[in-house]
Amino acid sequence: MSHVETGTLYVISAPSGAGKTSLVAEMLKRDRILGLSISHTTRPVRPGEQDGVNYHFVSREDFEAMIRQDEFLEYADVFGNYYGTSQRWVEQALAQGEDVILEIDWQGAAQVRRLMPHCVGIFILPPSPEELRRRLTGRGTDAEDVVERRLREAAEECSHAQEFDYLVVNDQFDVALDELLAIVKAQRLRGSAQQQRHADLLSRLSSS
Ligand code: 5GP
Repeated sequence: MSHVETGTLYVISAPSGAGKTSLVAEMLKRDRILGLSISHTTRPVRPGEQDGVNYHFVSREDFEAMIRQDEFLEYADVFGNYYGTSQRWVEQALAQGEDVILEIDWQGAAQVRRLMPHCVGIFILPPSPEELRRRLTGRGTDAEDVVERRLREAAEECSHAQEFDYLVVNDQFDVALDELLAIVKAQRLRGSAQQQRHADLLSRLSSS
């Protein structure tokens, strides 16, 4: 599919509690060319979440049927639940020239990197382990054993940070947001993208 894709695929990973979801939500507000892939998951809906907005919430049976039908670009078992990215949605958005964000875990990111080596990987880090614990406890929507488990999983997730193209530390939200938007902007200014966008300008300038 690489010959038809025109948008850029951003793969953003982070340990739970790093602020990834809030940062990505703000990126989408600030940059209208960015689109977010809504994953399918078998995990229960959390308070305040909506089917079709935060995730497509599906049963394990339905998810496994989708695996068999090859509907996922990638999928993984995270914290005992399945999460996966719709291949069709991502391919269509990229083909239409949209830049697409996948908010997925390191296992999914590794699968996408293998399939689509031109994707841009971004890893978001919390500023310290203490702050991470505070953020995970503060959310208050998960049981204590889930928080403890997520802290262990966070350490595991962070051990894969060096596999990503960019690292952003979310100490101050606005600074991290600016950095993420700067990555997107720089990506759009790459010579290969600009040469296509400004083919006419380049040809006029080089022939004058
Ligand atoms: P949460 O349940 O807190 O929303 O997400 C748990 C983890 O699953 C996060 O690391 C999140 O990035 C990851 N995740 C969400 N959607 C997907 C997906 O489609 N694929 C993969 N591999 N991970 C996902």
